[in-house]
Amino acid sequence: MKNNTRKKQGLLIRLDDIAENMNWKLMDRCEKLFYELNIKPLLGVIPFNKDPELLKLEKRDYFWNKLKEWSDKGWEICMHGYTHVYDNNTNKKDYFNYGGRSEFYGHSLMEQSKRINNGLKIFNKNNLKIRSFFAPNHTYDQNTFKALKENGIDYVIDGYGIYPYEAKGLTFIPQLFYKEIMLPFGVQATQIHLNYWNEKKFENFAKFLLKNKERFLSFDQTLMRRKKSLLTKITNFSVEFGLKFIRCFK
Ligand SMILES: [Zn+2]
Repeated sequence: MKNNTRKKQGLLIRLDDIAENMNWKLMDRCEKLFYELNIKPLLGVIPFNKDPELLKLEKRDYFWNKLKEWSDKGWEICMHGYTHVYDNNTNKKDYFNYGGRSEFYGHSLMEQSKRINNGLKIFNKNNLKIRSFFAPNHTYDQNTFKALKENGIDYVIDGYGIYPYEAKGLTFIPQLFYKEIMLPFGVQATQIHLNYWNEKKFENFAKFLLKNKERFLSFDQTLMRRKKSLLTKITNFSVEFGLKFIRCFK
């Protein structure tokens, strides 16, 4: 019974804003924890970081070698934008209705495709294969999805729903909560910004990992939980509708 429940739930650890400049001291501690508990996270890597806030953080020159080492250990290297600099407003018209500023929304297909392609070149140069993406600030438009497909990226780590699903010719791994939450069912990704954590936040995260250590999925395990049943589609649609409705009033 217990095993059966476990097959139906799982969480992919998604770390955001991984770049040459980041909170390396906390990253070192997370790395140790992931190795100890055999957790394989997905790292949202900014290939050409120009975000002034992030550039204030510690820089380590062996960043790209470190990424290769993690990738060889089965951690998933994912592309998180290109420069992480917002140069457009969505006015809440973005695909997921998150609103706020964006690096991609509103730009032409050519421009979005160029940014994604430039990012990919940096990963390629460092011998890293990229198959997934998530945009800074969750902000996409139809051209973003077209640009991803043009560049051979098939997976987006964002969106609503309880299980990974297919749309726009891509597979979406839902990302629902800002806090680490293990639902009794469903397969989603977290959103972890360790750059801004304090000691207390790290301790809570460590406790959460320990408590749920058997329920974390690697990226490949997450993809195996893709569902195509009608019930899944209805559940995903209801969650999307509900969350978008709530956001209208925020
Ligand atoms: Zn980010």
